[in-house]
This record gives sequence, C-alpha cells and structure tokens, in this order.
Amino acid sequence: MSRFEPFDLPTETESLRAEVRAFLAETIPHRTARERAESWMGMDKDFSRKMGARGWLGMTWPKKYGGHERSFAERYVVIEEMLAAGAPVSYHWIADRQSGPLLLRFGTEEQRRSILPRIARGEICFCIGMSEPGAGSDLAGVRTRGTKVEGGWRVSGQKIWTSNAHVATYMIALVRTLEGERHAGLSQLMIDMTSPGVTVRPIENLTGAADFNEVFLDDVFVPEGMLVGEEGNGWKQVNAELAFERSGPERYLSSIRIFQEFLRIVGPKPSESERIFIGQVAAQMWTLRQMSLSVAGKLSRGEDPMADATIVKDLGTTLEQDIPRQAQALAPAATDASFDETMRYLVQASTSFSLRGGTREILRGIIARELGLR
Ligand SMILES: Cc1cc2nc3c(=O)[nH]c(=O)nc-3n(C[C@H](O)[C@H](O)[C@H](O)COP(=O)(O)OP(=O)(O)OC[C@H]3O[C@@H](n4cnc5c(N)ncnc54)[C@H](O)[C@@H]3O)c2cc1C
Repeated sequence: MSRFEPFDLPTETESLRAEVRAFLAETIPHRTARERAESWMGMDKDFSRKMGARGWLGMTWPKKYGGHERSFAERYVVIEEMLAAGAPVSYHWIADRQSGPLLLRFGTEEQRRSILPRIARGEICFCIGMSEPGAGSDLAGVRTRGTKVEGGWRVSGQKIWTSNAHVATYMIALVRTLEGERHAGLSQLMIDMTSPGVTVRPIENLTGAADFNEVFLDDVFVPEGMLVGEEGNGWKQVNAELAFERSGPERYLSSIRIFQEFLRIVGPKPSESERIFIGQVAAQMWTLRQMSLSVAGKLSRGEDPMADATIVKDLGTTLEQDIPRQAQALAPAATDASFDETMRYLVQASTSFSLRGGTREILRGIIARELGLR
C-alpha cells in the first residue's frame, strides 16, 4: 500500500544545488525558452560529456564502475535543476536513469566494468526496445525473436517508438528467446546499434521533430555476453526497469517552461483568474514534488517504488497536460514570440506525455490493483 512517507532533502544538498545552477548559467546561457521547453528530450552530446566530467552521471553507482557513490538525494537535486533549467540532457538520460541501474542490478561483472564507466562519462547513449507494432500496453505480446546459434542469438523483428534509436550506441531490447506462455521466455538483449541487420527509420511527431523511430532487426547477431540478466527473466527485469522510468521529477516538470513564461508575461500584477491558476499550479507542483521525493526516498532505501511511482506519473502527466491548455486559455492578448513558440511546442508535445512510459489507462490499472480494487 502506498503511504508516501515524507523524505526531505538534507540541507547539505544546498551547496550542490548552487554548484549546479552556476554550471548551468555558465554552460547554457543562450538556450531559448522554446529550446528549454524540450526538457529531457533536448539533445547535446557535448553537454552530456560536460555533466560526466562534473561527476553528475552515474552519481549513486559504485566508484569501481565509474560511479561517484553519492546519495539519491544528491542525484535528485541535480536532475531537478537540469529539468528546471531545460538543460539538453537527452543523450545520457535513458542510460543514466534506467539502462545503467538495470545493468548494475542484473548485468554481468564484465558488462558493469565495460559499460557503466562509459555511461558515467556521458560517452554513450541507450535506447529502450520494448514497444512493437501490436505490443505497447500489452508488452508481453512482443514478437521479436532471438534464435539460439553458436555463441549467441540471431534476432529478427521490429521495434517502434524507440526514442533516440538514431543516435544510440546500444538498445536494450525485450526479445522472445524461449518458448513459453506470454510472460515466460522473454529476455533482455543489449544490441550494438552498428550491428549488421539493424535499420533505423525516423518517425516525425506532431511538433515536426523526429526523436523516436522504427527499428528493424533483420537476423542481427547478438553475442552471448550481451544477454542482460537471466535468459527468460526479461519480464521481471523490464518491470524493475519501468519503476526507474516512472519515478523521477521529469514526470511532472515537462511543462514548467510555459508556466515560467506565463509568470513572465503576466508580470508582477496578475489578474484574479491568473492568480488562481498560478496558485493552483504552484500548489500541485509542491505536492507532486513531495510525492516524487518520497519515491526517491524509497529508492534510496532499496525499496520497490513501483506503486508510488505510478501514482506520481499519472498525477504528474495530468498536470503537465493541463498547464499548457490553461495557460493558453488565460494568457493575455499581448504575448511575445518567446511565449508563443514555447506554447505552440508544448500544446503539441504534451499530448504524448501521458503515453510515453505507459499510458494513463494502464497506469490506473496498476494503481487499482495496488489498492486491491481489481
Ligand atoms: C514520446 C514517446 C516516446 C516513446 N519512447 C519509447 C521508447 O523509447 N521505447 C519504447 O519501447 N516505447 C516507447 N514509446 C511507446 C510507448 O511506451 C507506447 O506508445 C505505450 O506503451 C502505448 O502503447 P501503444 O502505442 O502500442 O498503444 P496501445 O497499447 O495500442 O494503446 C492504445 C490505447 O488503448 C488503451 N489501452 C490499451 N490496453 C488497455 C487496457 N488493457 N485497458 C484500458 N485501456 C487500454 C491505451 O491506454 C491507449 O489509450 C514511446 C511513446 C511516446 C509517445
């Protein structure tokens, strides 16, 4: 049962927060509001390397794997500041958030030693190969198949909506390698995206960007050493991974840029309806932040945050979708180009916020199960 036990950031994290803010002011001073609105989808390889050099990737991982043995609270502060500033974090985001932790928990010693330090330096990018045509919400229906051959597997099938596959170094793909009923027989394979037989085709989204893709796997050879965890244990591992994917502040901060633009455009004397909107958003963000921090607390204690993370994501994406709509309805007649471009982008982009990482209906099903209602 979810309780959302309070978790406060230790006061020592304030000096780190100041350090991160100074770094951001120096590193990305000219990023426009529209660019910052891309939030964790903003891509800049060089920026990721700079974060790696500061020791802000793989922050909680053991030093022997290139990590920095810092606390979950410290990591929380860094990602919160990155998101609030709209820093271009996309190149390392998936690897730092979920592929690295997955390898740390289930990977072989060889995988940890060879891959994790490269993630922590911001050198490599990961993509998530879960969804397929016909297997999104119903993920257990994946049909991509790995056939055992000498020294590894030959993998054939198709993935879809694969964010960053066009720049990724590796994909962690959910693949059927053994016969079995639905959840049984699935495995996670780490696929080198330069392997012969891998074809990536961009899919343009509503905003005109192409940051997700179709990925075709045609008889791709994946060596034995690239199996992540146990063969046939893919379903359990994927669920552990989804808890990392759903637990962070990126699940309620994606529309913060238009809120900041709204505050700027209405100035110091907002009207009554503007004040009500500002108050409501601030109160909801404060509450979601406390809930999200509570999830970070669970992660730091090694507890399973799945149920709480699911609630935060459902409530958070609802807020992320409400903010642009309400700001658009309430905005004064005279706005400016910065406000309009940010608004246009977020009105279009926010439709996807409740789809990526699991749809609203699926999340509510998980919450209902957790509450004993189904
Ligand atoms: C921006 C973005 C980035 C993404 N990035 C990735 C990625 O990097 N890697 C990856 O693997 N996937 C990615 N996805 C895919 C995402 O995880 C899927 O779109 C999502 O899980 C839904 O699957 P689907 O699109 O097949 O829709 P479907 O599963 O076909 O669902 C269609 C509709 O039916 C509803 N529905 C389905 N089943 C039920 C049910 N049992 N009860 C009630 N309602 C139901 C859904 O809620 C939804 O509204 C991304 C998606 C987006 C939008």
